[in-house]
Amino acid sequence: MFDQSKSLFEKAQTLMPGGVNSPVRAFRSVGGTPVFMKSAKGAYMYDVDGNRYIDYINSWGPMVLGHAYEPVVNAIQEYATYSTSFGAPTELEIKVAELIISMVPNIDMVRMVNSGTEACMTALRLARGYTGRNKFIKFEGNYHGHADAFLVSAGSGVATLGIQSVPGVTATVAEDTLTAPYNNLPAVQQLIADNPDQIAAIIIEPVAGNMGCILPQPGFLEGLRALCDEHGILLILDEVMTGFRLARGGAQELLNIKADLVTFGKIIGGGMPVGAFAGRRELMEHIAPAGKVYQAGTLSGNPIAMIAGYTLLNALNDNPRIYSQLEEKTTLLANGLREAFGAAGVVYQINQIGSMISVHFAEYPIVDFTSASGANNELFRRFFHAMLERGVYLPPSAFETWFVSNALTTEDIEFTVNAAKSAMQSII
Ligand code: PMP
Repeated sequence: MFDQSKSLFEKAQTLMPGGVNSPVRAFRSVGGTPVFMKSAKGAYMYDVDGNRYIDYINSWGPMVLGHAYEPVVNAIQEYATYSTSFGAPTELEIKVAELIISMVPNIDMVRMVNSGTEACMTALRLARGYTGRNKFIKFEGNYHGHADAFLVSAGSGVATLGIQSVPGVTATVAEDTLTAPYNNLPAVQQLIADNPDQIAAIIIEPVAGNMGCILPQPGFLEGLRALCDEHGILLILDEVMTGFRLARGGAQELLNIKADLVTFGKIIGGGMPVGAFAGRRELMEHIAPAGKVYQAGTLSGNPIAMIAGYTLLNALNDNPRIYSQLEEKTTLLANGLREAFGAAGVVYQINQIGSMISVHFAEYPIVDFTSASGANNELFRRFFHAMLERGVYLPPSAFETWFVSNALTTEDIEFTVNAAKSAMQSII
């Protein structure tokens, strides 16, 4: 079934560290051979051996309307003929900025970058530059990209690979990163009390997606907002996953929470490498060349990336039913999975909000990194492979969220639920 993938993986490992260009793709925590993809359309991906998969990763979020979404593909083809990069301003960038600012509450200005990592890294620099303070608070199991300051108690691949402290991140840098358990307001209060007038920002995934999907408990985000206001700390919402996915205006809109700075990635680029950070004018005008907080990019605002994102964002903006449809589909999937796991008699937790969902095999609620880590990852590993063999492509780690796309049909969900039932029978 995976012969071509196996031989490609053998070769890839001689040429790229671990055979991949981003760690989680290597299937390290679930074992086995990563599947090498050839093409994708709508809800399906096709590998080099000719297998079809229903895709629940969707490029880790961006393909919210499915793969090779025609308006995006057409727009890329058209714009590629004008030039793949100018390194000079374009009218398209104005349109993109206008669209983003109209969709997202609470922002006046935006700066486009090339990845979620860059977006978070610069938002933190801006918060530090603005407040004149060095320290910041992040949450255990949250992932904000691979800039040094964030690689402390990080989620996603760092958690999957069980890396406690990343070599190369100096102690001096790590000292300024304070960490608290997700959903634990008293721990944040304590950090603020212990570091008076030293904390520039609190950065958080408003819905955590890098230790599986974990929802903020009622009052948690509101509590952070109040603490920030009280202590002159900036609240950075990392909406790289949640932006344009949970609602047009992301988690800020859905959860009714106001950020000082917001970061974006994934959907904002329509599948091209794009990130962005945004906030109110008074803050954003500290960014160079308006201000002194420096940030730049040779390919930032790249026309192909901009038209891809612009086309996808417009499609989301123009369809008033899109977010309820995504949620309905995901709820149908969640209910089907409950049936499958219930029939198999395994303990499980399904966390879901909108089109983000994940499964942990545990008998207690998954509310933070400690509870996520205690789940039965061996069972997850077997479930993952049994699903893969049945043509369902899930994230290869329980520390990742599944992303549902609107290309998914009721039949695809039924197929997935039947696969889950048969997978469970084969592994229990
Ligand atoms: N923030 C969050 C919440 C993310 O999930 C990710 C990537 N999965 C990033 C930041 C980093 O984005 P990128 O991989 O585009 O650098």
